[in-house]
Amino acid sequence: MGLSRSLLLRLSRSPWLAEQFRRRAFARRAVRRFMPGEDLPAALDGSAELAKAGIGTVLTQLGEQVRSGQEAQAVRDHYFQVFDQLRDRFLPTQVSVKLTHLGLDVGREACIRHVLALAAKAQEEGSFLWIDMEESRYVDATIEIYRRARAEHANVGVCLQAYLRRTPQDLTALLPLSPAIRLVKGAYNEPADVALPRKKDVDAQYYTLALRLLDAAGTGRGKPVFGTHDLNLIARIREQASSRQAVGRYEVHMLYGVRAEAQRALAAEGEKVRVLISYGSHWFAWYMRRLAERPANVWFVVRSLF
Ligand SMILES: Cc1cc2nc3c(=O)[nH]c(=O)nc-3n(C[C@H](O)[C@H](O)[C@H](O)COP(=O)(O)OP(=O)(O)OC[C@H]3O[C@@H](n4cnc5c(N)ncnc54)[C@H](O)[C@@H]3O)c2cc1C
Repeated sequence: MGLSRSLLLRLSRSPWLAEQFRRRAFARRAVRRFMPGEDLPAALDGSAELAKAGIGTVLTQLGEQVRSGQEAQAVRDHYFQVFDQLRDRFLPTQVSVKLTHLGLDVGREACIRHVLALAAKAQEEGSFLWIDMEESRYVDATIEIYRRARAEHANVGVCLQAYLRRTPQDLTALLPLSPAIRLVKGAYNEPADVALPRKKDVDAQYYTLALRLLDAAGTGRGKPVFGTHDLNLIARIREQASSRQAVGRYEVHMLYGVRAEAQRALAAEGEKVRVLISYGSHWFAWYMRRLAERPANVWFVVRSLF
C-alpha cells in the first residue's frame, strides 16, 4: 500500500482532525466535489438529475460506528423517511447502509432488527437495500446479518471487497443464496495478512471474482454489481459478459463525482449504471477514504484553499 494512501486512511480515524475539517469552509467546499449537498433534499435532487440521463442512484447517509441504541434507531428512522420520499418523488433509487451506523457495535440483535425492518420497507416500496462492507473485523457479522436478511427478503444485497484474502471463500459460501453482491476493491487500512497489499493483486482478484459472479448471473444465480471506476476492468468484464450469458444481468455502480463522463457514456451504451450519492454532515472519515483512493485528490483540497 502506498505511503500516502495508508497515511490518509490512518488520519481518517482522527476525531481531532475531523473536527478541524468540519469547521473549515475550504474543506466543506472541497467535499462538495463528491456530494451534491449535505442534506437529503440535495441528494434527492441529485438523484432526479441523474435519472434524466438514465442513471439510477443509491443513497447513503454518512456516519459510522454510532455509540448508542438511540442513535442507531434515529438512523433507521431516517432511512424509513428516505424510502417514503423516494416513493413520493418516483425516483429509481436504492439505499445503502453501514451496519455500524445501525448500531452493530452497540448490539447485534438490535442492528439485525433494524436491517430486517429496512429490508421489509424497501420491499414494500419496490426498492432495494444494500449493506456496505466496513473494516475486516466486521466481515463475519456483516455476512451473517446479510444471510439473515436474505432469508426473509429478496431485495437485499451485500458488498464484498476484492482486497481481502478471505473473499473468494466468502463468495463460495454465499453463492448458494443467489445473492446480490456489490463487488468493490476495498477502501480501508488493512494489514497484509488480511488484505492483499499490492494494487496489481487486488485488481487481479477483482477480475477473477467478477468472472465467478458473471457465471452465477448467467445461470440465474445472483445479481452482480461491479462497484468500480476502473474503466479497464469494466471493459474486460463487459467483454466476458456475453460468452457467460450475463449481458443485462449485472450493473455498474460508481461514486458521485468520480468519472461522471464514463457514467453517462456507459448508460448511453445501454449498461445499467447507478451512482452512489452520499450526504450528511459526518463526512470526514468517508472523505479521507476518497482522498486515499486517489492521493492526487489532495490537490483539489489545496486548490480550494485559494
Ligand atoms: C458504488 C460503490 C460502493 C462502494 N462501497 C464500498 C464498501 O461498501 N466498502 C468498501 O470498502 N469500499 C466501497 N467502495 C470503495 C471501493 O472499495 C474503492 O475504494 C473505490 O471504488 C476505488 O477503487 P476503484 O475500484 O474505483 O479502482 P481504482 O483502481 O482505485 O481506481 C480506478 C480509477 O478511478 C479513478 N478513481 C477512483 N477513486 C477515485 C476517487 N476517489 N477520486 C477520483 N478518482 C477516482 C481514478 O482515476 C483511478 O485511476 C465503493 C465504491 C463504489 C464505486
